[in-house]
Amino acid sequence: MEPLIRPAFARPSNLVDGAIRNTEPATGRPFPDLPITSPAEVREVVGRAREAQRRWAALDWGERRKKLLAFRDRLIARTDEVVDLLVRENGKARFEALTHEIFPIVDLTNFFAKRARRVLRDEKIPLHLFGPLKASRLRHEPRGVIGVISPWNFPFSIPMGDVIMALAARNAVVVKPSEWTPRILLLAKELLVEAGIDPDLVGVVPGGGETGAALVEADVDMVIFTGSVATGRKVGEACGRRLIPYVAELGGKDPAIVLPDANLDHAARQVVWGAFANSGQICASVERVLVHESIHDAFVAKVVELASAVRQGDPAAAGEAHVDVGAMVVPSQVDLVQRQLDDAKSKGARILVGGGVHGEGGARFIEPTVLVDVTSDMEIWRDETFGPCLPIRPYRDVEEAIREANDSAFGLSAYVFSRSVSRADAVARRLEAGTVMINDVLYTHALPETPWGGVKQSGIGRVHGIQGLKDLCEVRHVNRPRLPMVPLWMFPYRERTFRAFRYGMRKLFRGPLG
Ligand code: NAD
Repeated sequence: MEPLIRPAFARPSNLVDGAIRNTEPATGRPFPDLPITSPAEVREVVGRAREAQRRWAALDWGERRKKLLAFRDRLIARTDEVVDLLVRENGKARFEALTHEIFPIVDLTNFFAKRARRVLRDEKIPLHLFGPLKASRLRHEPRGVIGVISPWNFPFSIPMGDVIMALAARNAVVVKPSEWTPRILLLAKELLVEAGIDPDLVGVVPGGGETGAALVEADVDMVIFTGSVATGRKVGEACGRRLIPYVAELGGKDPAIVLPDANLDHAARQVVWGAFANSGQICASVERVLVHESIHDAFVAKVVELASAVRQGDPAAAGEAHVDVGAMVVPSQVDLVQRQLDDAKSKGARILVGGGVHGEGGARFIEPTVLVDVTSDMEIWRDETFGPCLPIRPYRDVEEAIREANDSAFGLSAYVFSRSVSRADAVARRLEAGTVMINDVLYTHALPETPWGGVKQSGIGRVHGIQGLKDLCEVRHVNRPRLPMVPLWMFPYRERTFRAFRYGMRKLFRGPLG
C-alpha cells in the first residue's frame, strides 16, 4: 500500500527569544522561561561527558551498581515531587505519572544495576571448524557517549530508560528532552547527582530541533531517537553521514483484533484503556479496532458504556480523587486530532461518545471519542492520531482482519483478543509488529527484560532487554590459539596444501548432512 504518513505537522513554536516558553497543558498556567542550549554548549556538555565516562568505566562493577541503586532509592524517596511535576508539565493523570513513568524506571534501574555485569561479561563463541585449534571470545566495551533525543508523551520513562541502560553499560549520556517537557529531566538529573553520580556523566540539554541536531553532530558515539517518522528520517540521515549507530523508535497505528470467541468484557476494558490512557498520546495506543461482525454490536455497546464512564479533567485539581484522562500536551496535536475527526465525520463516520475539544484559559482537552462506520480511506484509520480516539470496524473473516491490520505503513505493536491463546497466537504470528500482545495492551514497554521497537516505519533497532543493553556496547572479538602451530593457509602456497584443502572441503560439505 501507499504510505499516507504526513510530513511533520506545522507547529506554532514555543521557542521564543532564545528561551523555551511553555504552559501547563491542563490549566494553561505559564512556566518560567527556560534557556535553550546552543550548539556550542551542546559540544561542551558532550566533551565533559566524554571525560566523565572514562572515570565511570574505570570504577568497579560494584561501585556503579551502588550508585544506580542509590538513584533508584532517591527516586522512590522523592516520588511525590516527580509525580507533581509530571502532572503539571505533561498534564497526565497522577496515577499514570506513578505507574507509567516512575514505577517502570525504579524497576528497570533495579533490574539492570543488578544484571549488567553478568550480561556484559565476556562470551565464548564455540568455533565449529577450528574449535580444537582456536578460541574466540566477545568483549562488550562501552561505546562512549550516547546521545538521547526524546519526545513529550513519556518525558520521564522514555529518556530515563535509555539513560539508566547507557550508564549500566558504562557509557556517559547526553539527553535532549522535548521542548514541550524539559523540566522533568532536569529534576531527574538532580536525583542522579544526589545518588553520587558525576554531574558531567549525564548531560541534559533543553532546546528544540536545532539543539537536537547539534547533539547528533556533536561527538556522540550513538544516538537513540524517539519521536516522529519525519524527524527520525532527518536524524537517521545525520547519523548515516557520521557513520554512528542509530536506534529509532517512531510512530504507530496499532491495531487490535477481537476474535469471535473473545471475552467481550475483558477486550472492551483493555481496548478502552489502550486507546485513552495518556489521552491517547502513546506510540502503542490502540488506534484501530477490528471486531468480528458477529460480536460487533455487543462489543461496541460495552465500549460505549466504559468510554462514557471515563473521568477527564485537570489531574492536579482532582488530587486524591483521581481523574482517568488528562490533557493534550502540544497545541498543534489538538488541531491534528480535530482535523482527523472532521475528515472522518465528513466521510460518514458516526461519533458515539465524545468528539469535543475544550479547555479554558489555554488548557487543552480532547474528550475520549469512540467512532463507528469508519472506512479505510479516512485519515483517522490510516494516519497516526496520537489522541484519545477509538475507531471500530467489523470484519468478516480472520484473513480480512489480518490483511487490514497489516495494511499500514507502521508496525509498532498489535493486539489480539480470544479465549483461546493458541488461536490468538496463530494470528499474532502473522501480524507485522515489533510487539504483539495477546489479551492485553500497552504494558510491555514497562518490562525491562523484553526488547522494544517497531518494524516498517515504526523504527529501527531495539531499546530495553538484554539485546538493548548489549547494543549500547561495541562488540570486540578476540581470537587466540589453543595449540602452537602455523596455519596451513599461509605463504608459501603449495599445490600439496591446495589439494589437501580441496579434499577436506569435499569431505566436510557433502550431501544434506555435510
Ligand atoms: P518529534 O519528532 O517532533 O520530536 C522528537 C524529538 O526530536 C524532540 O525532542 C524534538 O525537539 C527533536 N527534534 C526535532 N527536530 C530535530 C532535528 N532536526 N534533529 C534532532 N532532533 C530533532 O516527535 P514528538 O512530537 O516529540 O513525539 C511524538 C512522536 O513520537 C509520535 O509519532 C509517537 O508515535 C512517537 N513516539 C514513539 C515511541 C516509540 O517507542 N516508538 C514512543 C513515544 C513516542
